[in-house]
Formats: sequence, C-alpha cells, structure tokens
Amino acid sequence: MMANVANCKKCGTLFLQTSKRDICDKCFEAQNKMLSEINTFVITSPEETIPIEVILQKFNLTKDEFEAFYLAGKFVKIGQKVTFVCSKCGKTVPIANKTNFICNSCAKKLQNEI
Ligand SMILES: [Zn+2]
Ligand SMILES: [Zn+2]
Repeated sequence: MMANVANCKKCGTLFLQTSKRDICDKCFEAQNKMLSEINTFVITSPEETIPIEVILQKFNLTKDEFEAFYLAGKFVKIGQKVTFVCSKCGKTVPIANKTNFICNSCAKKLQNEI
C-alpha cells in the first residue's frame, strides 16, 4: 500500500498521510496542545461557568471548530462548565446539554414539530 501525500488543511504543508487525519504532525501537536490548554483553563478557572465566547476569543477558535472538537469528544471534562446561549430561547445552558447550539428542550420541541 502506498502512503498518501496530502496538503495539511491548516498550514498547507505537504505531509505523509498515515491515518485519516487531514492535518500535518506539527499542526496536530499544536492542536493537541491547544485542546489541553482549553481544558486546563476551564478546569482551573475559579468561575463557576465560562461562556463559550470567552474560550473562542482566548484561543482564537470559531464556533464550528469548537463544535467539531466537542463532537470528537475533546471537551467531555468541561462540558458542564462551558456555557452558551440558546439561539432559540436565549437561555444560558452548559454545552453538554445541547444540539447544534440549541438547548435540549428547544431541540426536543423542534423534533416534535417535524
Ligand atoms: Zn500543518
Ligand atoms: Zn432553548
């Protein structure tokens, strides 16, 4: 089997793709470092809850990137402490209780409407 050479999705560098990962080793390492920094930041914060915007701004992430990491299971430990505002009802809820940045109760309501 031939190894695949691919362009890193983050920095554009050519790299040897040995797994499904679409970023190079350097970016992957940087990403892991950032993820553990986010977890540490949230866990060690004296605040009871932290709005997601604070994290997006501090770590220069988009909501979509955060969502992707979240779905990949990277923020399990901080899911109850990081909060977002439901785009439907405006309630502040932990990210652990959400689907697509809508709170669980609004998500349920939407499902019932379909
Ligand atoms: Zn890269
Ligand atoms: Zn809601």
